[in-house]
Amino acid sequence: MGKRIGVLALQGSVEEHLAALARLDGVAPVPVRTARDLKRLDGLILPGGESTTISLLLRIFEMAEPLTRRIASGMPVWGTCAGMILLAKEIDGEPPHYPFMDMRVRRNAYGRQLGSFHATLSIPGLSADPVACVFIRAPWVEKVWGEAEILAEVDGRIVAVRQGALLATAFHPELTADEAVHSAFVAMC
Ligand code: GLN
Repeated sequence: MGKRIGVLALQGSVEEHLAALARLDGVAPVPVRTARDLKRLDGLILPGGESTTISLLLRIFEMAEPLTRRIASGMPVWGTCAGMILLAKEIDGEPPHYPFMDMRVRRNAYGRQLGSFHATLSIPGLSADPVACVFIRAPWVEKVWGEAEILAEVDGRIVAVRQGALLATAFHPELTADEAVHSAFVAMC
């Protein structure tokens, strides 16, 4: 049956993550829409989208507490872009959502309109080969502390962080044909 890897499917780039997972061997991709779906997952992806909207929908669908409990109990979680924002202990100018990762993020850090770009990054912690990265109104990480480990930077800005079973990337590997980061996350699960 393989590992059950969930993708939070309330808003954002859900289909792209499910499709990337489906291209990997030994993975059963699971769209997660209810608290019940959160049970029996080996790992969960929080997709890009709008962090405030995803956070609001999690509360409306009564998933906020169950999600907090699952993360606290050690379920591996990977947040991409908005998902990275959701996992940060500190967000510039607003309260945090799921404060599990020792990092401070700034939303729309590259600007709102012109803030989308591509970069090819060497991320030895995630892939042996360079990774094609797509940034869309991305956050960057202003600082990390404690247990958080920096995996990648662009122009001196931190864009990928790992802390134990938690992974956060400011970019969107699900929008490229390269499954290396999905594969690395599945290996963590
Ligand atoms: N700008 C979005 C936010 O602040 C994140 C963008 C994305 O996920 N592509 O939540």
